[in-house]
Amino acid sequence: MSEYKLLIGGKLVAGDMVMDVINPATEEVLAVCPRGSQAQLDAAVAAAKAAFKGWSRQSMDDRRACINRLADAIEARTTEFARLLTQEQGKPLSESTAEITYTAAFLRYLASLELKGRIIEDNDVRRVELRRKPLGVIGCIIPWNFPVLIVAFKAPVALLAGNTIVIKPAPTTPLTTLRIGELCAEIFPAGVVNIITDHNDLGAALTAHPDIAKISFTGSTETGKKVMASAASTIKRITLELGGNDAAIVMPDADPKTVAPGIFGAATMNAGQVCLAVKRVYAHESIYDELCAELARLADAAIVDDGLMQGAQIGPLQNKMQYEKVKGFLEDARANGNIIAGGQIEDRSGYFIRPTIVRDVEDGCRIVDEEQFGPILPVIRYADPQVALERANASPWGLGGSVWGADRDKAYDLACDMESGTVWINKHLDFGPNIPFGGAKQSGIGVEFAEEGLHEFTQIQVINEAR
Ligand code: NAD
Repeated sequence: MSEYKLLIGGKLVAGDMVMDVINPATEEVLAVCPRGSQAQLDAAVAAAKAAFKGWSRQSMDDRRACINRLADAIEARTTEFARLLTQEQGKPLSESTAEITYTAAFLRYLASLELKGRIIEDNDVRRVELRRKPLGVIGCIIPWNFPVLIVAFKAPVALLAGNTIVIKPAPTTPLTTLRIGELCAEIFPAGVVNIITDHNDLGAALTAHPDIAKISFTGSTETGKKVMASAASTIKRITLELGGNDAAIVMPDADPKTVAPGIFGAATMNAGQVCLAVKRVYAHESIYDELCAELARLADAAIVDDGLMQGAQIGPLQNKMQYEKVKGFLEDARANGNIIAGGQIEDRSGYFIRPTIVRDVEDGCRIVDEEQFGPILPVIRYADPQVALERANASPWGLGGSVWGADRDKAYDLACDMESGTVWINKHLDFGPNIPFGGAKQSGIGVEFAEEGLHEFTQIQVINEAR
């Protein structure tokens, strides 16, 4: 029997099936977890549908209060949740602690937003009012890289706007989310928040479900395309936060020693399994050797270990499938460039790969052109910043990007021409709940965070009244 429970219609219930959750640092079974069936998914959607009327008619302040109570309850259990998150996800405890802390902060900030309608016209002829109404039941589909924080990207805005939700975590990282479900059971009216797990077999049913009004999806571009196709059957609203291949362009006037730690940190956080990680570096030929050497020095010094161990900087890859995939990228890096740091898997159990720096590599091979989603960083030499920009933009993705250099105006001009939803200057991977975030091109549709993100969970209604 599993000590974890699904949350359906306000009740914590066993799954119709169970599945093992593996600790990626040890490859041992961490917990037996409930696995939902199609019937349980249908029950969760039905519960969310039944709860919608009551929840959507509550005042925004009442809904806000529930979300804030959840933030408080999560924060009160930061130590316990962070430890569990490290055990199921693999990231170092410091990163897990930050993820839980950010989760509470995102819940609070997003709950503080206001949903404003407006009067478009009010005169002798007519009164036209724009209102924003909730959509109904929202399906929130979550990936395994930030299993808790990404729930806090979606749930508070969906709920604040008056929607009810069904959350589906990724099969390899459901545990901390189910613990949060226990808190939700005490805080929200029955059916407002539901959590269902699967073995990668219920996502399609969720996206095709006729009683779901919107899917808020974060995951790979490949799965995002399936979500989009499946959502078409009922013209569901969709927000897709998908993959990326973020380029960092390092200008000739950048100081390699100054910029290397920021680039390295943004490439290897969460073992490189971050949608907005630096995934390729374009370095000017004048500073190329020095930057490569500096990145290699940082990679050699990095402590790769079980995330629970004191001082661990880089944990294991999250799951076996990703581990095998990243090993394939290592082979590609070996064949198409020179590996100057890392390059080997750790001789121990667990899905560990040392941070790897690849130089003398060009566009046109997998390690540069595809999303590695692991701690391998290719560094490509360029002579002309405009050519670096063209190569950065030649990707089908457009999530993030960055420009590093001393001349602010030159960096800014290049940043404006990057085809990405977010571009940073002299940093990478800085985001917050007050800053709209979304992908260009095949990195997604729609935005999350801030008022713009809240609006995506609403339907505009116009009341047009004769005078
Ligand atoms: P994934 O696409 O494999 O899975 C994501 C979720 O989709 C999981 O819950 C999975 O069970 C579910 N799913 C699987 N098949 C489905 C289907 N047919 N219909 C609906 N749902 C289905 O992604 P992943 O491997 O868990 O996550 C890594 C990817 O996510 C990377 O590409 C990364 O860049 C991306 N990501 C993007 C963002 C962003 O905000 N843009 C954030 C984090 C991760």
